[in-house]
Parts: sequence; structure tokens; C-alpha cells
Amino acid sequence: MSAAETVTAWLGETRPLLIDGDWVAAADGATLDTIDPATGGRLGTFASAGTADLDRAVAAARRAFEGAEWRALAPNARAKLLWKLADLIEDNVEELARLESLDNGKPVTHAHYYDVPAAADAFRYYAGWVTKIEGKTTTISMPGEYHAYTRREPAGVAGLIVPWNFPLLMAAWKLAPALAAGCTCVLKPSEQTPLTALRLGELIVEAGFPRGVVNILPGEGSIAGAALAAHEGIDKIAFTGSTRVGKQILAAAGGNLKKVTLELGGKAPTIILDDADLDKAIAGAAAGIFANAGQVCVSGTRLLAPRSIFDRVVEGVAAIAGGMKVGPGTDTATEMGPLVSQRHFDTVSNYVASGLAEGASLAAGGQRHGESGYFHQPTILVDAADHMRIYREEIFGPVLVAQPVDDIEEIARKANDTTYGLAASIWTRDVSKAHRLAARVQAGIVWVNCWGASDMAMPFGGYKQSGWGRESGFEGVENYLQTKAVTVAL
Ligand code: NAD
Repeated sequence: MSAAETVTAWLGETRPLLIDGDWVAAADGATLDTIDPATGGRLGTFASAGTADLDRAVAAARRAFEGAEWRALAPNARAKLLWKLADLIEDNVEELARLESLDNGKPVTHAHYYDVPAAADAFRYYAGWVTKIEGKTTTISMPGEYHAYTRREPAGVAGLIVPWNFPLLMAAWKLAPALAAGCTCVLKPSEQTPLTALRLGELIVEAGFPRGVVNILPGEGSIAGAALAAHEGIDKIAFTGSTRVGKQILAAAGGNLKKVTLELGGKAPTIILDDADLDKAIAGAAAGIFANAGQVCVSGTRLLAPRSIFDRVVEGVAAIAGGMKVGPGTDTATEMGPLVSQRHFDTVSNYVASGLAEGASLAAGGQRHGESGYFHQPTILVDAADHMRIYREEIFGPVLVAQPVDDIEEIARKANDTTYGLAASIWTRDVSKAHRLAARVQAGIVWVNCWGASDMAMPFGGYKQSGWGRESGFEGVENYLQTKAVTVAL
């Protein structure tokens, strides 16, 4: 069977929840449909988890955490499981890429060459850390003789809540470090894009992870997500999503003082200085806002460029926008797919309308693309003032707001004039200006002469209201560890 036929057959059945190693319907029989954003039609149906399902999954994860099969597994054996899962992801790249493209709308070529290999890479990267988790010995100053040391131990049962923009990859970014640390997990994918996480669950079972170590329960955020965030049986919650929901997670997690990490929204500036390689900078600015139809937390949504080059830069990005092939993700020629849902399409369209109503003007796009599905043209807004919603709020669509600036002081002020602080990109040939500006920008991630270059070895996360903590690197594992001090009188 071809990957397309396999996917069609798989979607022919209601996809169940993964609880304690078994594939089961929701306790109350609830199901939800997932929609193909390229057509607006039903793509598939999946079991929608409720609180009873969450309770069962958390109990299963607790049993697995305390049971010998997982806890006593040697680090190199745990590493092998993660590595095996990475191999299985790669073996199934075509099927996973097609599912991701259908469910989220993203170009299948992007899913094939970025999302799926990057998910495999996350499991391999963290497979490498499993055998390198270590405590230390300390000579202490108390009177007497002691042997004092620390142990790094898994935080316990981890609740993982992920969004719809990179469904498989965001699941991998959470599961891989959590499993590397020795936690057991309850993963809640977005109700809008549950499919690749469920297929990943099948690969997790195939890889041989013990029952209950990973439980996967798609469901509505306000029901399953909220129940997970508040659950007394969860020790640690890791969330990627909007800042608004991140604040709700934090409040819900307070009941039993869960450890919390949050990867939230952004409003990243793309800064192009007048000495930049303009061809590269213009292409980078376009990629920074139109990749994944602008549904990226690190999207470069605010373009800041000196007046001397402003028109040329805007014209260059507008030319790329005008030439982009917008279409269904499953078409291999597509460069930009649809937005994820009707609701999100309306949100993005309303932002564009509000900008125009407040006095901004269009330099490209601004309209729906086509007749069906949730396609939005790549769009550029100019003449925007700092107080406008399009300049201040996360739009999460292919909408660039471009502003001319006078000098580097104004650039630094504007770059930081936001409640967010996730990312920034700086384009210049002047090494000194690049490093100075990189130091001044209040963001967790700064790219110079590139955009979106994220590697598992580099920390990923935000300043200000873009989040708490960092993913990737060893910090990613530390999110799921706690430290025990052991003092032995000799
Ligand atoms: P969202 O906040 O609406 O939903 C994210 C997840 O939270 C989903 O699984 C959803 O079902 C769940 N959820 C919703 N309400 C909940 C509640 N009350 N309690 C618990 N869970 C709840 O975000 P989204 O629209 O899916 O994703 C887009 C957002 O994610 C953007 O703001 C984007 O910037 C952000 N994001 C951030 C990063 C990062 O690494 N910083 C990466 C990707 C996306």
C-alpha cells in the first residue's frame, strides 16, 4: 500500500485513546472530528478524552512510574528505546508527513523534510542524554565525617499539553526529554490536530515502552487540558501554547504546586540594518513570516528597517508574497498551506481588518485565497502605529507589519516594546552591531543573518510573557528532574 492509501485506511476508523498500553474509547463515548483545513471537510474522528479518562491515564502513569519495569530499566536500555522510536519515526516518514499535512494544512514537503526528521532527531538527541544524568559529591563543612552527594531523579508523572502548529514536533520536544529523565507521561495533543500524536503512540507501543509510560489523550482544552493541569496526580506540567492559556495552566497547577514550564506566544522583530545583504535579508524576512502560514511562535511578525532601505525591503518581501504558491498541503508544489481552522482564519482576517480600520495600509495580500478551505494570502501591512492591535498582539498568521525606523536606538526600543520576548532576527554585515543588538534585545532566541535555525543543542524559550524555562539542550531534561541531597554520617 502507498502512504496515501495507508493513511486513508487509518483514518477510516475512529482513533482511540492510548491509556495504559491499550487503545480505548473515551469512557463516556465522546468523539470529535478533525477537519481538513484545505477543504473544511471532515478528515477523521477520534475519541475525545474526559476527566474519567484522564484519571485512568494518570493512575496508569503513576503505576508505571513506581513499577520496576520502567524504574529499574538501566539508562542505556532507556536510551535504546528512545533511539528505536526515532528509527520508527524515520521508517514511517511518508505516512507521518501526509497525516501532518492533512491535519494541520502544512506543505507535505515541509513535514517530510523538517517536522518528521526533527521529531526523530529530538528522540535521538535525548537518547544521548539518558546516560549522562549525574549528581555530584560535595565536601561539606559540618563537624564530623560525612559522605555527601546529590542524585538527579525524575520529577514523576508529567502532563504534557501541546498546540496544533507543529503537532508531532511539539509532542516530541516534550516526550523525549521527559522520557530521558525517567518520567512517565500523559500527553494531550491539540483537539485540532491529534492525528500524528496518536500515530506516534502506535510507534511508542511498537518500540517496546512498558505499559503506562506514555498515555496519549486528545481532547478539548477546556476539559481534558484543564483537568490535566489541575490534576493532583500530576507532578510536573509542560505546556506549549498561547500566553492566555499559559496563565490558566499556571493558576490550575497551583493546587498541588506542580513544577511548571511554559512555551508561549511571541511577537518577534525582524531587524534589517542598512548594511545587510539585502537579498538574503528579504528572503529571510519572507520565510520568517510566511513559513507554516505564519503559525509559528517565533515568526518574525514585525519588520523594522531604516528609512533608507525600507521601501526596497517591503517591495522585496511583497514580491515574494505575490509569487508564493498557496494551496493544499498535500500538493508537493505548495509553498504555503491554509490556516488551521475557520475560527483561526476569522481571527487572522479580523486582525487585518482592524489594522486597516485603524489606518494601516496593505503592501501585499490582505484577502482570502481561493473559494474553499481556510487559505489567507501572504499579507504585508505598512503605516501601522505602535498602539495598533496588529503591532501589539500575536496574530499567528501570514501577516507582516512593517515599520521604518530612524536609528539603532529606535530599533532597540521598538524591538523590546512588547510584552513578549521569544525571538528576534537581526540582519547586518557589521559584526559589532550584530553582537551589540543581540545583547540588547529582550528575547530568549536571537538569530543573526538567519531565521528559524533551531538545533536540539540550543536552548529554546522566552523572556517576559513568552514563557518560563527553556526546552532543548540539557536544560530540557532538567525540566523533568529534581535533585535529592543525601548526607551520610561516616
Ligand atoms: P492554545 O493555548 O489555544 O492551545 C494549546 C493547547 O492547550 C491545546 O492542546 C489546547 O487544547 C490546550 N488548552 C486550551 N485551553 C486549555 C485550558 N484551559 N487548560 C489546559 N489546556 C488548554 O494554543 P494554540 O492555538 O493551540 O497554539 C498557538 C499558540 O501556541 C501561539 O500562541 C503560539 O505562539 C504558541 N506556541 C508557542 C511555542 C513556543 O515554543 N514558545 C511553540 C508553538 C506554539
